[in-house]
Amino acid sequence: MRIALIAHDKKKQDLIQFSTAYKEVLEKHELFATGTTGLKISEATGLQIHRFQSGPLGGDQEIGAMIAKDKMDMVLFFRDPLTAQPHEPDVSALIRLCDVYLVPLATNMGTAEILIHGLERGDFSWREIIQARKGGQNG
Ligand code: PGA
Repeated sequence: MRIALIAHDKKKQDLIQFSTAYKEVLEKHELFATGTTGLKISEATGLQIHRFQSGPLGGDQEIGAMIAKDKMDMVLFFRDPLTAQPHEPDVSALIRLCDVYLVPLATNMGTAEILIHGLERGDFSWREIIQARKGGQNG
């Protein structure tokens, strides 16, 4: 599974703690992240992470491009709902693409817990269900 990790500045510590707690789950997957998030998580956990540009410099859009090419299976995006982001249009676009392509998306730690427990179970049958629905959607 390809998983994208993104956290706004005030949520980075939360995502570091989350990634540390679930390191054994995450290390079984191919991880991607926006620049600063990826650097901080890999420093804290030792996880191998492919890093894109920093979010405000286009990293969210790079992850969006992977979604559009059907190359991302899950997005864990710890958003800060209380601080205005200069790249809000990119954030909205990324979330929109997850909805367009039926990519599981957590925008807070509560949902991320549910998704990571799904990963922990190792039951990825939902991917086939989603692929079938995508076929129906496009056809
Ligand atoms: P960053 O980007 O990981 O480079 O800080 C995250 C974001 O704000 O989208």
